[in-house]
Amino acid sequence: MSDLRDLYQELILDHGRRPRNFHTMPEASQRAEGFNPLCGDKLTLYLKVDGDRISDVSFEGSGCAISTASASILTETLKGKTLAEAEVLFERFHDLVTGKPHADDKGLPLGKLAAFSGVSDYPARVKCATLAWHTLKSALSGAGQVVSTEE
Ligand code: ZN
Repeated sequence: MSDLRDLYQELILDHGRRPRNFHTMPEASQRAEGFNPLCGDKLTLYLKVDGDRISDVSFEGSGCAISTASASILTETLKGKTLAEAEVLFERFHDLVTGKPHADDKGLPLGKLAAFSGVSDYPARVKCATLAWHTLKSALSGAGQVVSTEE
């Protein structure tokens, strides 16, 4: 188990240092900004949605290693997924980092998102880990406003 934790730690550090899909997207069909004032994490998420599928996703911004790694892994995970799958993954990820047991995985494995399981031990970091996901929801709902973790 501690080996797994080390592996997860390594994955988060790697994505925090070298975030993937870290760029603006002029041709995005949706975008939203997220802000976590507790930690100072800020990001803008860009999405290209074709029909009911997310064909491309990227982000830019600045924040702590956890918020950056979470956004980076979100972009890797959601590329090519349907909007319905994105919704299921949001719920599963939220349950994971808030420490809720999840009986039904609905056939969608968490993959690299599982690296954030340790976050549930640190309530202050939950908002860092979920910022990108709340921003995703805002982008998909078309609100396009700045979402804050403090409402
Ligand atoms: Zn943070």
